[in-house]
Amino acid sequence: MPHVAFVPLTGLRVGTDEVRELGMTLPGLKTRVGALTELPALGLLTLAGMTPETWTSSYHPAADWDESLVEEVFETEPALVAISALTASIDEAYRISAAFRARKTAVVIGGLHATVCAEEAAQHADAVVVGDGESVWHDVLADIERKSLRRIYRGTGPFDLAQAPLPRFDLLGERAPARWTLQTERGCPFACDFCGASRLLGPFREKPIERIRAELVEINRYSQRPWLELADDNTFAGGRDVDELLTTLGDSGARYFTEVDWRIGERPDVLQRLAESGCVQVLIGVESLEFRYPGMGAKQGQTERMMDAIRAIQEAGVVVNGCFIVGADGETDASLDHLTRFILESPLAEVQITLQTPFPGTGLFERLKHRGRLLADRGWSHYTLFDVTYHPKPLTVEQLESGFRRVLASVFAKPEVERRSALRKDIWRRHSTS
Ligand code: SF4
Repeated sequence: MPHVAFVPLTGLRVGTDEVRELGMTLPGLKTRVGALTELPALGLLTLAGMTPETWTSSYHPAADWDESLVEEVFETEPALVAISALTASIDEAYRISAAFRARKTAVVIGGLHATVCAEEAAQHADAVVVGDGESVWHDVLADIERKSLRRIYRGTGPFDLAQAPLPRFDLLGERAPARWTLQTERGCPFACDFCGASRLLGPFREKPIERIRAELVEINRYSQRPWLELADDNTFAGGRDVDELLTTLGDSGARYFTEVDWRIGERPDVLQRLAESGCVQVLIGVESLEFRYPGMGAKQGQTERMMDAIRAIQEAGVVVNGCFIVGADGETDASLDHLTRFILESPLAEVQITLQTPFPGTGLFERLKHRGRLLADRGWSHYTLFDVTYHPKPLTVEQLESGFRRVLASVFAKPEVERRSALRKDIWRRHSTS
């Protein structure tokens, strides 16, 4: 039987030494990075779920380039190695791919970066999957069996989530992951200028509730009370029956994290049942206090109204992790100080701060590239969310780097981390006793 080895590049990366050192000493960041690194790679596990029974499969997550991992995979005698990577890890993916190709093993690369930069990826792999992997996976396998792999596979349309197969969680092995992953929708109805989710994942689609139920039943086979990270970009942003979704999640006994936009704080239909359904935390993009990104649509709101919505979500027993982007045009030392004060005085019980990053395929990338503002000496491995990759305005690169570190050091200082931790416990305690 032919064998396919799935190799996701996992985890976050930081290119700048100073930020990496800061990250290792800031407890909030360290915990989050650890959690993300361990998340099962849903895309590849889903492809494994639709791989015909005439193939065998194995799963080998890679946090970094690792010779021993290459040996481990090679021992499975794969006819095909399927690699997925994001922009920051794509160079490592290419290096791993080269190691297999040197051993005459075919490699296919997919994921968001390969979707946008297909010609680049095709120089490093035998084949590239553009867009939804499910749409072309059977073609890839049939072609490798015929020894006639094409360079690029592009689906003829978005994959119908009603046909979504069950992910092969059994490939994770003996050790249950700390968090499971489940997707209830793909894409996002908005088109924020800096975000790839809305453009690269195809049109916004919701997975039918029966498929979600089936995946939860599968996860419950391994854990009766699992922690879930929904692999959604904006849960509840579509037109689905919210009550049905919340009931389904609640019935599974799961506790879950997801990403939403602040407007759920103004929706009693969501708020009333959110915590009961097992939701413990939502990530909300507040984005920049200084710059209005094109494409944010109805997500663009007055800051005070957003904060009221965030208060309402937390009063309903769900912690809000407010996400901020640093480095948009107009950012200055004064605006960074303002951002720091704003966060410290805000009701937010958790915070995430990243540097504006022009990922390929986004409007932001095109704008900065067109104006010659991308830093030529900072390749894809710097597209981490923690490294400056363009000429900011009016700050210099060095000023933005040091300003970013200053914000991180203040917001993630020990007393602040402890204060937000106490706030989170209070939010959850109040809800569990209400
Ligand atoms: S709302 Fe979030 S997921 Fe949707 S386009 Fe904007 S940043 Fe991306």
